[in-house]
Amino acid sequence: MNDLRIGLGIDLHRLEPGRPCVLAGIRIDCERGPSAVSDGDVVLHAAVDAVLGAAGLEDLGTLFPETDPKNRGRDSAEFCTRSLELIRQKRLRVVSLDVVVETELPRLKPHRSAMRERLAQLFAVDPDRVNLKGKSAEGLDSIGNRLAIRATVVALLAPA
Ligand code: MG
Repeated sequence: MNDLRIGLGIDLHRLEPGRPCVLAGIRIDCERGPSAVSDGDVVLHAAVDAVLGAAGLEDLGTLFPETDPKNRGRDSAEFCTRSLELIRQKRLRVVSLDVVVETELPRLKPHRSAMRERLAQLFAVDPDRVNLKGKSAEGLDSIGNRLAIRATVVALLAPA
């Protein structure tokens, strides 16, 4: 396995009352959800940026601008599908994803395995090549005060 490539993606969104909460493509029952032009799926946004970054491609915001009406309310799974097409054109594949989600709300534990499976499906890897951890912010800063949620993803890519 020569020519491994590592990418890092980070995304932060405000959490607002009444917004749907979709994380890693899984709809979660929660009193707050990420505010955004798209569906606000911070996990998929960070994952796409990590994958695109590893491949040396343009980032999510450049490929899918918030100003484009097509991206309004858009299912972020479509960003994953498109980024997978782009890396395949460069003859690359995803080897693994490691995901950290910093949030007080919602608690991720009951949803972790569904989130891993969905990420694995979207990026065409085995679920055991995807890890996902939830971290609380101990009541500190905007995340600790339930005003924001942040996802950080490291992606490893290899030749297809
Ligand atoms: Mg985002």
